[in-house]
Amino acid sequence: MSKKISFVVPIYNEVDAFDGFYHKMLLPELEKLKYDYELILVDDGSKDGSLEMIQKIAEADKHVKVLRFSRNFGKEVALTAGIREAVGDAVMTMDADGQQPPKLIPEFIQKWEDGAEIVIGVRGRFEKHGLIAKMGSKLFYKILGAMGVKDTVPGSTDFRLIDRCVADEYNKLTEHGRITRGLMDWLGFRKEYIDYIYGNRLAGKPSYNFKKLFGLAIDSFISLSTTPLMIFGFVGAFITIASFILGLFVIIEEFMMGDPIGLKWTGPTCLSIFIAFLVGLLMISQAISALYISHIHAETQGRPLYIIDRKQSRNLNERKDSKNSTK
Ligand code: UDP
Ligand code: MG
Repeated sequence: MSKKISFVVPIYNEVDAFDGFYHKMLLPELEKLKYDYELILVDDGSKDGSLEMIQKIAEADKHVKVLRFSRNFGKEVALTAGIREAVGDAVMTMDADGQQPPKLIPEFIQKWEDGAEIVIGVRGRFEKHGLIAKMGSKLFYKILGAMGVKDTVPGSTDFRLIDRCVADEYNKLTEHGRITRGLMDWLGFRKEYIDYIYGNRLAGKPSYNFKKLFGLAIDSFISLSTTPLMIFGFVGAFITIASFILGLFVIIEEFMMGDPIGLKWTGPTCLSIFIAFLVGLLMISQAISALYISHIHAETQGRPLYIIDRKQSRNLNERKDSKNSTK
C-alpha cells in the first residue's frame, strides 16, 4: 500500500483567503505529490461563510475532509483535532492564509524521507517585521531558553511535518492549555529545520492580536516550566539571608558593643531590617507552596513519563495500540 500524507489546515474566518490559497497555492503542490494524500480542514467555528466554502470544496474533491467545531476553540485546539483525525504516515500542518508557502512541501517531505521525524518551518531571519513583534518574539525565546526549555529553536512555527510515530505520541497527550509546537518539541524525536519567509496574508485580517499572543506566551511559560516560581524563591532567600546578616551585625555592633563605629542605628532602621527578613521568609514559603501547586498541575496534565522511539527500539513485545508506520 502506498504511503499517505495528511495535511491539516485550521480555518477561522478565512472566507477571503482560503479559496485562493487552496486553488492557486496548495492544490498545485498536492497534485504533484507522489503520495496519496488527505486534506483535513478544521473549521474553528468560523462565522463568515468559510464553512460553506470548504464544504463545497470537499464535495468536489474527495481528498478534502471537513471537521467543524461547534464554536471557536482556538488554533491550537484546531490543530490538535486535525492531527487526531489524520491517518497519514506523516501529518503536515499549515495556516490557511498563504503565509506559509506550500511550495516548500516537497522540501519537508524530502527531509522526512531522509529520516527526520519532525520537520519544523522556521520563520526567516531577514524578513521585515515590526520592531515590537521582533523584540517580543526574541524575548519570548530568550525567556523560554532561560527557563530550561532548550529544545525550541527561535522562530519555530506550526508550519511543520510530523511522522506517524510523533503524531501517535502527540495524540496521547491530554492537557488542555496547550501550545502545539511546544508540546511537539517536548516529545523529542529527530528534528530538522527549514527556513522560510513568512509571506503576506492573501486576504482577510489575522485573528491573533497582541493580547492573544501575550496569553499564549504566558501559557507556554506556565505549562513548560517552573523556573518563574524558583526565581521568586531565590529572591526571597537572598533577602532573608542579607537581612539576617545585617540584623546580626546591628545586634553585635549596636547592642553588644555599644556602637564603636558610630553608625547610630535608629529604631525604624532596625524595624525595616526585621521586616525585610520576614518578607524574605514569606517569599520563600510562597515559592514552596507554588511549587507544590505546580507539581499538582504537572500531575493533572497527565503527561506520559517518557516517550519511546519505537522505530529505534528493537525486539519489543507487540503492543495493541501501536500502529505500524511502515504500512
Ligand atoms: N485560526 C484558527 N482559530 C483561531 C485563530 C486562527 O483556526 O481562533 C487559524 C487561522 O485561520 C489561520 C491560522 O490559524 O489558518 C493562523 O492564524 P492567523 O493568520 O490569524 O495568525 P498569524 O498569521 O498572525 O499567526
Ligand atoms: Mg496568518
